[in-house]
Amino acid sequence: MSDFHVDIGPQYEGEAIRKEELHIEFGGPKITQKFEWARLKNADEIEDEKVEIIGPDIKDLGEGGPYPLAILIDVAGEELEADMEPVIERRIHMYANYMEGVWHMAQRNDIWVRVNKDAFKKGLNSLKEIGEILIMLYTSEIDAIEKISITFITDKAKVEELLPEAVKVYEARDKRALGLKDEDVDEFYCCVLCQSFAPTHSCIVAPSRVANCGAMNWFDCKAAYKLDPEGPIFGFAKGECLDDIRGEFTGGNEIIKSKSLGNYDRVYLHSAFEFPHTSCGCFQAICFYIPEVDAFGIIHRDFTGLTPDGVKFSSMAGSTSGGKQIEGFCGIALELLRSPKFFQADGGRKRLVWLPKDVKERYKDVLEADGVYDKIATEEDVSSSDELVAFLEKVGHPWVKGEVELPG
Ligand code: SF4
Ligand code: ZN
Repeated sequence: MSDFHVDIGPQYEGEAIRKEELHIEFGGPKITQKFEWARLKNADEIEDEKVEIIGPDIKDLGEGGPYPLAILIDVAGEELEADMEPVIERRIHMYANYMEGVWHMAQRNDIWVRVNKDAFKKGLNSLKEIGEILIMLYTSEIDAIEKISITFITDKAKVEELLPEAVKVYEARDKRALGLKDEDVDEFYCCVLCQSFAPTHSCIVAPSRVANCGAMNWFDCKAAYKLDPEGPIFGFAKGECLDDIRGEFTGGNEIIKSKSLGNYDRVYLHSAFEFPHTSCGCFQAICFYIPEVDAFGIIHRDFTGLTPDGVKFSSMAGSTSGGKQIEGFCGIALELLRSPKFFQADGGRKRLVWLPKDVKERYKDVLEADGVYDKIATEEDVSSSDELVAFLEKVGHPWVKGEVELPG
């Protein structure tokens, strides 16, 4: 792979890039103009292997950032189906991390990309080269891709203009998944794409449990398995249901046992206690236990403030990630909030007492349906656990009043 300025391969996947080492940074929590989007097109709409850059390139931008970034992957192929768009999109994470000195985190409109000083010095100074490497990886790993082109947009106004279109597509993907429940299917899926960062982590994806990164629901995983049966996502028989409230299945336990290298042999899909699902590093949010009120809060990647206990997302993410089962701390996709089985064994949405304001607004419909929308505190209402306790008492939160019965 000597045509490129940096080395390429799975050995670079776990590589982190610290602030001091970074040459340039795109996206991340400090900027809203960011997304990645794979689109299925007709063959005649694609100029094969073209990489286009709209806006300034790495070499034109000064050191530092964060700068805006959109990554558009357009593909065509007889055997490709629209269902496969999220799968192709998620591969950006894997392939970008294959590049020496390049780091990619998260997904959809949460992306965060860094290029380190070493890679820049070696000559990786253009998004064009990153695009060419991506194309090389896509075409060598996914046979069904017959034509591909990649567009990077760093022009802030242009990213802003396209973002709502992408968000609409993400929402449509999520909506489709809502109709299906765990009991409606025999097959669940497992994704081990993040094992390079967290060797004992795998995501179990069931109809009522979207993957931690939020980029893969049950339908997406089904499409991924069909597209690349040898790839990081595969189906397995869910087996016997051992506990329908907690979401424990013989098939899930077996998978966790083999994919965690024997570290864990039981997993609950719908509880944060005893045998919670593990977390890698690219969860969208963390559902966390607040001992003072024996209830839960959620903090997400883009929230730069503090929890009522004074913790930042980044530090909580540090202790939640790494592929361990940590009671009371679960990396989740925000969309899990819409699942009818959202931590159902623990009291579900009715046990949520603190949410960042934007999350509370985004999921207003389901929170209202559960009668807790106006009982949940945000960063605007409280800034310490004492204030949280007082707030919940004042508004009469049903969990605090003891009105929420745990199922089973
Ligand atoms: Fe796969 Fe889970 Fe990583 Fe998403 S977070 S890429 S589903 S292992
Ligand atoms: Zn991950």
